[in-house]
Amino acid sequence: MSNCPNCLASNPFKKVDRDGAVIEICEYCNTIKEEECEEYPKKQVQNKSDTGLVDKIYYGWLIFMVVISVIVIGFALFDAFIKFFKYL
Ligand SMILES: [Zn+2]
Repeated sequence: MSNCPNCLASNPFKKVDRDGAVIEICEYCNTIKEEECEEYPKKQVQNKSDTGLVDKIYYGWLIFMVVISVIVIGFALFDAFIKFFKYL
């Protein structure tokens, strides 16, 4: 026996199949029983390994952009030096 924490109905929970997982929801206010809710943070933790890969791609791209900038600035400085020495 368990009461709904939202509408306080006694034992209103019924098992419902949602997204392939069986969850218990209150038939009066559709509140999901808390024990089943704990699966959602676990999924978010699993996604963090994917964001680690995204971070690596992001930093790789950032380093690539810095290298391109250094080459472009290097060529601009080299061009400026050539022009400077032509005036001497
Ligand atoms: Zn309820």
